[in-house]
Amino acid sequence: MKKPVSDNSKIIDGKLISSKITEEIKKELKSHINIKPGLALILVGNNPASEIYVKMKEKKCAELGYYSIVNRLSEKITEQELLAHIRAYNNNSKIHGILIQLPLPKHINEMNVLEAVDYRKDVDGFHPVNAGRLMIGEKCFTPCTPAGIHELLIRYNVETSGKNAVVIGRSNIVGKPIANILLQKQKGANCTVTVAHSATEKLTDITRKADIIIAAIGQPEFLKGSMVKEGCVIIDVGINRVEDSSLLKGYKVVGDVEYKSCYKKASLITPVPGGVGPMTIAMLMKNTLDSALKKVYHQ
Ligand code: NAD
Repeated sequence: MKKPVSDNSKIIDGKLISSKITEEIKKELKSHINIKPGLALILVGNNPASEIYVKMKEKKCAELGYYSIVNRLSEKITEQELLAHIRAYNNNSKIHGILIQLPLPKHINEMNVLEAVDYRKDVDGFHPVNAGRLMIGEKCFTPCTPAGIHELLIRYNVETSGKNAVVIGRSNIVGKPIANILLQKQKGANCTVTVAHSATEKLTDITRKADIIIAAIGQPEFLKGSMVKEGCVIIDVGINRVEDSSLLKGYKVVGDVEYKSCYKKASLITPVPGGVGPMTIAMLMKNTLDSALKKVYHQ
């Protein structure tokens, strides 16, 4: 009997696109042999998830031949001490990108820290200068996860112009920046954008009209197939651990989208893992390269 052929034609493969971006970066670096992009990664405290993310970023830097520093700082560091570290990287010509792994301990004001980064080295795109420039459609460092989503829409030739895009979630890291990107008159965007959030009423009425849905909620399998229209494009940003005693590690990772039911309705969908996740680091590397090549700001 013939084995059933699995239909992967609906899947937006972030792993594949991120490795293509990695190859493109390597190629570009070959034509700039005097340039060595430098990234400073600052990790405060012992958050295990943050430790994993920083290690992944460090590994990617090594793969690409970037100069990287991982500065592991005590949970007890004062805000002033942390700001001094950031200022040192602002003035270090070997460093083109500065990333502060979030979240920070509660006694440190996150905004003060993000604002202390030289916006010309803000490869995470969280400085108010970059957030503001993104909003008005000027050249800037775009936050990596939204930049990765935009890249996926472009590379999968998703028809976006004039389409109804619904972003669920209004965080500064994902929801707001991706809404701003999709609103701009540019490739992979030019959408009519609706941003839904925790106070939104009749969400299903909104999502059922969406041609493109970006789910960035932080709730496992929140978006069900019954909430979306046939043929829509679904981008699942969520990374949630849920208990699964059948697995050795005791948990599995799921997105903010109920994959099985949404897959049936969608024309294209990102899986979790292997969708948006791998794009985030790829775009961080791209932003760092662009900073080293002064493609965004002249210093
Ligand atoms: P967040 O907690 O800061 O924001 C969640 C948003 O969801 C809020 O704005 C809230 O208003 C909205 N929300 C909550 N309940 C809702 C409801 N019932 N209806 C409508 N909206 C609702 O989260 P975040 O930082 O934006 O992250 C969202 C998800 O994306 C998380 O699962 C996170 O782990 C994941 N994430 C993934 C990456 C990646 O690289 N793939 C990067 C960042 C975040």
